[in-house]
Amino acid sequence: MVPNIFRKHFLLSFYPAFFAAMSLLLAIPRTSASKAVESQQTQAPTHANILRGEYGRYRANNDLLSYHLDVRIDPEKKTIRGVNVIRFKMLKDDNRIQLDLYDNLKVEGIEFTDPALAVRSLPPGDPRTMLAIPTELKYERDSGAVFVDFPHTLLKGTEYTIYFAYSGTPKTIGRFGGFTFSKDPAGRPWIFTACEGEGASIWWPNKDQWRDEVESMNISVSIPNDLVDVSNGKFLRKEDLGDGYTRWDWQVNYPINNYNVSVNIGKYEHFSDQLGDLPLDFYALPEDLEKAKKQFAQAKEMLEAFQHYFGEYPFKQDGYKLVQVPYTGMEHQSAVTYGNRFANGYYERDWTGVGISPRFDFIIIHESGHEWFGNSVTAADTSDMWIHEGWTTYLECLYVEYRWGKADGLKYTNGYKSKVQNKQPIIPPHGINAEPPQDQYFKGALFLNTLRSVIDNDQRWWALIRDVYQHFKYQNIMTEDMVAYFNSKTGMNLKPIFDQYLRHTALPVLELKFGEGSVSYRWKADEAGFAMPVKVGDKDRWQVIKPTTEWQTMKTQLEKDKFEVATDLYYIEVSKS
Ligand SMILES: [Zn+2]
Repeated sequence: MVPNIFRKHFLLSFYPAFFAAMSLLLAIPRTSASKAVESQQTQAPTHANILRGEYGRYRANNDLLSYHLDVRIDPEKKTIRGVNVIRFKMLKDDNRIQLDLYDNLKVEGIEFTDPALAVRSLPPGDPRTMLAIPTELKYERDSGAVFVDFPHTLLKGTEYTIYFAYSGTPKTIGRFGGFTFSKDPAGRPWIFTACEGEGASIWWPNKDQWRDEVESMNISVSIPNDLVDVSNGKFLRKEDLGDGYTRWDWQVNYPINNYNVSVNIGKYEHFSDQLGDLPLDFYALPEDLEKAKKQFAQAKEMLEAFQHYFGEYPFKQDGYKLVQVPYTGMEHQSAVTYGNRFANGYYERDWTGVGISPRFDFIIIHESGHEWFGNSVTAADTSDMWIHEGWTTYLECLYVEYRWGKADGLKYTNGYKSKVQNKQPIIPPHGINAEPPQDQYFKGALFLNTLRSVIDNDQRWWALIRDVYQHFKYQNIMTEDMVAYFNSKTGMNLKPIFDQYLRHTALPVLELKFGEGSVSYRWKADEAGFAMPVKVGDKDRWQVIKPTTEWQTMKTQLEKDKFEVATDLYYIEVSKS
């Protein structure tokens, strides 16, 4: 896949030497970012990207049920060794499935306890079926994929369990490090994962795609006794293994996408709080504990705001956790990671440049917003990642509105215009592990704000976005699913509007031609059926017109210079002549 360091949040900061260079890049992010994406779209996808991106036969023939990832991590040797117990149900008769693991990691063996053999040799229900001898499975590795072959056909509707053992030193690559063996400022081990772009198979074997998620998961992490592991889900227990290592057991009680599965290992201090009956757990280095106690208090305001708009926090049984890390942050499900230096804004910066960002901690609000959009409502293909990033950027805007009112929310939202490139469509091709350009964040949020103005009734809008979330929570969807739902709830055909903003590069242009006491208007857009109401005229008493791609004329007393368009409410271009 094409490395794009601007994919998520800028600046991988924990290598001080990188910092200056990265800051330079920040000043000119557009060319390099867009070039990367353009080349990704114009060049044929690689064999590896097809294997990773395509939901092919050997993925589609099964449905994941659960993982139990059990790993032992050695900070001294910088190695990992473990097994993933993968439960799945066959959806078709077949004798091969596709899993994924980066080629640099060693497959120690893949086994399964053959239910067919057990049933044949023992009476049904005999507890000894559990003791059936595991069968070593053959497999074939190809560019990060691991095709697992079974000695006979697995049957549709039947559940199977395989044990995938592996070892090695995972790669430290990508913006946030993939899998990183690092040290904290005091020189103690600090080990973490952040692999959304690289894929979870950078450090553990799994079905590395977005469409299919396990229903639940267990994560067991064995580390030296003096360290703490924070992974996803509910903390179950820790057990001293008697050899200098302690195993930390975590249980994820909800569907989870692979890249969210994480370890955060360090000399963490822990403190906790409650929001109603939701447990809040916080982890920070000892030296930063006081700063963390102060800054992490914002988590409550964030949760209140998003619960207000969308409903209950999605992973209640697992609790909400915020964990200090040395990179900017990541939405790891129920264990959100944080590296924003315990200061408001984004790396102390006024992020959207309109004086509002300094009021709150960008990383706490944005990364936690993903619990609703990204972690609960998830895209089924990387191409449709705006469902994560566009929506979550819009959630920032809602947070501002919730706390400081509609005018500030609008101001914050429109601050994002300066970041939009309009160089390529937000949605790239499906099935080739392609990633959207950065416009998915900023233009995505501005598009949703535009949609609110199209609905033009706040009560309806609040109900609609809440329904969208409630309808799609815990699901993996494509943009088409969301458009169909919007259409069914509103009785409108919003597809041309979604498509213009998400599948074309250019913004719609409102063309205005002024005559004697009149103005003619139409949309210039790529979508033939593009029709969108818009507010025009005098900003103290807007008039709603309904332009299409055909010319229409209306009377107006306003001259060309006085005739305004509500461009804060609709992200459009205006051309007057
Ligand atoms: Zn994000």
